[in-house]
Order: sequence, then structure tokens, then C-alpha cells
Amino acid sequence: MRFSGEFPLTLTIAELVQGLTAGQYSSAEIVQDVLRRIEAQPGLNAFITVDRDGAEAAARMADAARARGQNAPLLGVPIAHKDIFCTAGIRTTCGSRMLTDFVAPYDATVVARLNAAGCVPVGKTNMDEFAMGSSNETSFFGPVRNPWDAQRVPGGSSGGSAAAVAARLVPAATGTDTGGSIRQPAALCGITGLKPSYGRVSRYGMIAFASSLDQAGPMAQTAEDCALLLAAMAGFDERDATALTAAVPDYQAALRSPIQGLRIGVVREHFGEGLDATVGDAMQAALREYERLGAKLVDISLPNSGHALPCYYVLAPAEASSNLARYDGVRYGYRAAEYRDLEDMYKKTRSQGFGPEVKRRIMIGTYALSAGYYDAYYLKAQRLRRLIAQDFGQAFESCDVIAGPTAPSPAFAIGAKSDPVSMYLNDIYTIPVNLAGLPAISLPAGFVEGLPVGLQLIGRYLDEARLLNVAHKFQEATDWHRRAPAGF
Ligand code: GLN
Repeated sequence: MRFSGEFPLTLTIAELVQGLTAGQYSSAEIVQDVLRRIEAQPGLNAFITVDRDGAEAAARMADAARARGQNAPLLGVPIAHKDIFCTAGIRTTCGSRMLTDFVAPYDATVVARLNAAGCVPVGKTNMDEFAMGSSNETSFFGPVRNPWDAQRVPGGSSGGSAAAVAARLVPAATGTDTGGSIRQPAALCGITGLKPSYGRVSRYGMIAFASSLDQAGPMAQTAEDCALLLAAMAGFDERDATALTAAVPDYQAALRSPIQGLRIGVVREHFGEGLDATVGDAMQAALREYERLGAKLVDISLPNSGHALPCYYVLAPAEASSNLARYDGVRYGYRAAEYRDLEDMYKKTRSQGFGPEVKRRIMIGTYALSAGYYDAYYLKAQRLRRLIAQDFGQAFESCDVIAGPTAPSPAFAIGAKSDPVSMYLNDIYTIPVNLAGLPAISLPAGFVEGLPVGLQLIGRYLDEARLLNVAHKFQEATDWHRRAPAGF
């Protein structure tokens, strides 16, 4: 088949690479279609910046490299980057007024590695301001719309990346996940998103929110594509002191391992209060599918998971309050136009540059870290974090992976969750995983009233290969991940 005008972007990365290798189409042709699609969907608001010239040039280079006989694993594959990853020469806003005009002088390691693997970056995706949010509504650049229903949120904070992949504007995007920001938008948009183990992927050049929790990962249609992307992203980086030296396994090869006899832990606490009954039904159906595939279900408990939310909402803001101290109007980023003296400049810059959710977090974090409250809040939360991590250790004695809902409900309406706590509750199943530093993946597992529902699989530390394998087997047996929203 020769390319003929309308490019089939319903293709996965694995399929695109096959076609590119077989010479059925060029990267330049794919990228033209990607750019055309992005420009035809301004209403989604999935992108903050589109780099047309850079994308066209990179696609031409990829085609030339292929003509010379090179075949990097992702050569010529278009990708969008969450606007939290620094990109040399292209602005990086982090969804904030504070960085509206910030242009980094270097590429984040994730970006550099994906470029080295042959990816063609096409632009930067919208996100919650400084990755704080679960709906993309905190972005200075306005909310992103869910391609399945434009009145609903795409999830957050990597909502632009999730919407772009779901709407088949790009085959792949990067995301970051501090408390669920890859998995929850993946679930709400009906795509596959992997949060790797803490330290698996370098955080260099990824704007910091909560450094002990932040982790970058891939978002795509399938687990197979996530495996291809993770292989390019993962591995030691001397510029990130928390990047692990552990060797990167062959994720592609692992996809095919049989899952006969696999023990899937089902968390008692996940199926109680707070979970939409319809989402619960979709989860039960997914678990039955795994039983048909030869897996065994094991009842497990994470007794401290109920403490995860308060624990996270002390620790993440505490770290954020420290990380965000750098935005002072002096070194880079926004500076208030008028001020009396230095202190007034700080105050006005930060008052004007940050949105309400970011300010709320800075205040909570500063409070929790202040003398007199440190022991009561910060230290207590650190102790809870240890207990939550130990729960997982115990659970993994009797199972190989844990399966359950990614989010308690499908995508909610824009504007529906106006009080912060009801928004925070959306991350109830994802946050414990970050606190424990574990890998987890969300994959499409059905629909509720036309809206996608995500299944979350949580793995042992550094067991991404198993997660990708278990997700891939489900995707061989189901077609939820192949469904695209109407009109895209
Ligand atoms: N929604 C969570 C928060 O607001 C998690 C965000 C994230 O993972 N970046 O903090």
C-alpha cells in the first residue's frame, strides 16, 4: 500500500515503523498529516506550542538517515512532549504564566534520548500548571477537552498528551506522573500510559514538581508502543543523581512471555466506597478476561492506602514549595512589570505568575515544613509513606502484579470539581504507587456510557517488563485500545 493523502494515524508506532521500514511512506508524509490534524483540532487545546518547522526538518533528516541505511528503533516516528520537558530552542511553559516565554538552552534527557532513537518531536502539549491537577483545568493556557466528549476533562496533569494520542493527532506522547498524571489521563482518554519505577527514567531537564515522586513515562495506544518508547527513554543518566544504574531489559521480548499461572492481586480496599459501580463492573469484566487468559486472582489488602492522600498532600506540596522557590523574577521566567523594591518585585512576580492551585500548594508546603509543624506534618507523612510502601512489599509476597481501577470514575465534566479535595480524590488509586516508587500502567478496559475506563496494573519495583507483558496479553485478547473517539 502506498500513502495516498489521508494518513492512517490509527496505526500504532509498531505498525508505523513497519511501514516506514518497508518504504510504504516517509516520515515527511506522516508528519505533514500530523501537523494537518493538529491544526484541524484547535478546540481540543491539546498543544501549547506546535513546532512545524522543526518537525518538518526532523522528518526530512529521518528520511535521509533511513535512505543512508540507518534504522534507529523509532526513526521517523512523530511524538509530542508534555510541556514540562525542556526543549532547546522551543519554549517550555509548564502550563504556567511564570514560564510563558521561557526557552531552555538544552533538551531534557528524555527528549534527547527519544531524538536519538529517531523520534520527530512535533510540539509541546498542554498540562496542569506545574503538573498540579487531575483535570488540566489549572493550565494558564486553558483547559484541554476530552476527545470522547468535549464537555469533559481529559484528566491531568498530562491531559494534553492523553488527548492528543486519543484523538490520533500523534501516535505517542511523553508524560510525567507525580501522583497519577500519566495513568489517570490515560484512563480518562482511553489510551495506554506507563509510570515507570522511580529512578528508571532520568528527570534531568524535566521541570520539578515533587522530586521524590516525579517520574517520566510514555503514553501511546498500546503497551507494545509503551515498551518501544520506554526502551528509548530508560537508563542511567549521570546528570540525575536518582537515575538508576540497573540495566534496561528487553521490553519487546518480554511482551510475549506467557501469563499462565500469573497471580493477580485484587486489592480489597479498591472496591469499596468511592468507586463508581459502573467502573467496578468494567474492572470485574477485565479480571475475568485475565482468568480466561490463565491468570489466578488473589485477594490482597493494602491497609494503609487510606492514608495515601493526606500523606501525599503534605509531601508533594512540601517538595513543591521548595522547588518553586526558584521562580522569583530574577533568574528567568516572568517578572512583574512594576514594583517598588526587591521584595515588592518578588511578591508581585509570584502573585501574578502563579495560578491559584500552585499558590495553594506553596502555602500548604511552606506551612508543613515550618518550624513547629515539621514534626507534626512532614515527618509524620514521611513515616506514613514508609508504611504504605511496606504494604506493597507484603502484598507482592502473594501476587505478581496488582490490578484495579486507575480512577474512581470516567471523565467528569469541565468545572464539575471546584473544591480541591474532590479533585484530589480522583487520584486515590494512583498516589500510593508514587509514594512507594513502584511502576504502574493504565490500559483501556471498557466503556461506561461512551466514556473510556482504565485498568491499572501495579508491578514490583523495576518490573516494568512484566507490567508491559501483562498489559500486552490483555490487548491481544481485547480491542478497547483500538477504539478511537468519533470524528478522530
Ligand atoms: N493530580 C495529582 C496532583 O495534583 C498528581 C499530579 C501529578 O501526577 N503530576 O498533585
